[in-house]
Formats: sequence, C-alpha cells, structure tokens
Amino acid sequence: MGEERGPRKIGEYVVRCPVCGRETLRVEEYIYEVPMLGKVIISTGKCTACGYRYSDARLAEARGPSKIVYPVQKPEDLNALVVVSSSATVLVPELGLEARPGPAAQGYITTVEGVLDRFLEALEAACRDPEADREACEKNRRAIEEAKEGRRQFTLVIVDPEGVSAVASEKARREPVSREELERLGYIVAPG
Ligand SMILES: [Zn+2]
Repeated sequence: MGEERGPRKIGEYVVRCPVCGRETLRVEEYIYEVPMLGKVIISTGKCTACGYRYSDARLAEARGPSKIVYPVQKPEDLNALVVVSSSATVLVPELGLEARPGPAAQGYITTVEGVLDRFLEALEAACRDPEADREACEKNRRAIEEAKEGRRQFTLVIVDPEGVSAVASEKARREPVSREELERLGYIVAPG
C-alpha cells in the first residue's frame, strides 16, 4: 500500500456562531500534507441557523509569533502556495496594501496571485462608493494588475502572532515580529 496522500478528517464539532450567537455552527476539520509546509489544517463550517460560513487554514504546528517576508521578483513567484490564518495580517508595502483580521476573520490557503485577487476585490468593493477617489482607485487597481501579471516586483509580508501562517517557498524568510509592529497592527494595545 502507498503512503496516505489525501486529506484526512480530524474533527467535527458544533460551536457558537459568531453572527447569530446560537450553538449551531457545525465545523469540520481536515489535515493536508503540503510540500514545503508540512501538515496544514483546513476548517470549514456552516451555521445551520443563519447560514454564516466559516473557514480557516493554519499550520498544524505553530512556529511562534512571526513575520513572513516573501520577495516576488519573477512571474513564477506568484504561484507559491500561501497559508493565511484567521489571525494574520497581510501586507504589500510597495503597493500600500494591508488586510487586518476582523472580528470574524476567515483563514484560507491560496497562491500569491490569489492574495492579490483578494486585495483587488476589496479595492473594487471600496471603489463602488460614490464618494471614492476615482483617480486613486484607478491607480491602485492598475498597480495590483501589474503585480498579478508579473510586471511589478513586490514583497508579500504576513504578520501572524500565532505563527500558523506560511509561504511555501525557500525564498520566504521567517523573522521575529517586534512589539512596535504588533502595536501598529492593533494586536496589542500600547501602554499609556
Ligand atoms: Zn449563525
């Protein structure tokens, strides 16, 4: 018999729904073996009362509070798999992009290009506001499109105080995250 490759179900439980507050959110957890990342846990759930959908993705073994820095220098770099846990903040400093986890944040596994798609969707949603700055919207949209097409180099940065996010590439560096950075991103409240 060969090695087991497919996902394996590791749990199924019912928890309180963050939206309607009832004990009706049914969550299933699966474990995947991902090259260069090791074991990744993917959870999905649906509230049978209000229809709220939950999802999360995280490394099975936490690496401690960390900041992942991944330089995207050529089109192939866009294909690396990325695990963004529900506790992570995603940043692209060169493009001024920042996505912090909200109170009901979702985690996911995607590619670097998929991360840019999410920023593009968020930008398009924000730009549907009639008050939005047309010129800034167009400029930012073009910048993300160029990055997606591999015509613009950038850095993908993921800050995760739980250390369960990752980029599947030898080029990705895992650095300690400073207290100042955690304060700036709202993970901890500055004293005084
Ligand atoms: Zn609900």
